[in-house]
Amino acid sequence: MFPSRIWRESKHRYRLEAGKCTKCGKVVFPYRLICPVCGHREFEKVILPETGKLLTYSIIRVAPSQFTDQAPYAIGIAELENGVRLLAQVADCEVDDIKVGMDVRIEFRRVQTDSHHGVLSYGYKFVPKWY
Ligand SMILES: [Zn+2]
Repeated sequence: MFPSRIWRESKHRYRLEAGKCTKCGKVVFPYRLICPVCGHREFEKVILPETGKLLTYSIIRVAPSQFTDQAPYAIGIAELENGVRLLAQVADCEVDDIKVGMDVRIEFRRVQTDSHHGVLSYGYKFVPKWY
């Protein structure tokens, strides 16, 4: 597969589109077919807010091989303004500067490079809002 095609598909996949259950109002992300709360199967599409607060995080010092150039880094859970929780890497800051409760923005970034094929994969990351 060509990198440009992966990028095109990723843009759709990572637009922060979530589903809101039309019966109970639960917002699910990533998008699912069945509501985990009430079992309903109809959702309306909602776009998630791009900001939230960091609830908790964990520092990765020994990284899997494709991420060793990024270690140490932090993986955190942020709660968005509508209550949805996301798991992602905390980017653009020293791990010692990360604090629970800090405001973060959700941005699309390069997640890893496949060094054999030169393919970049993209995903969302948390960026502290002071930048
Ligand atoms: Zn529901």
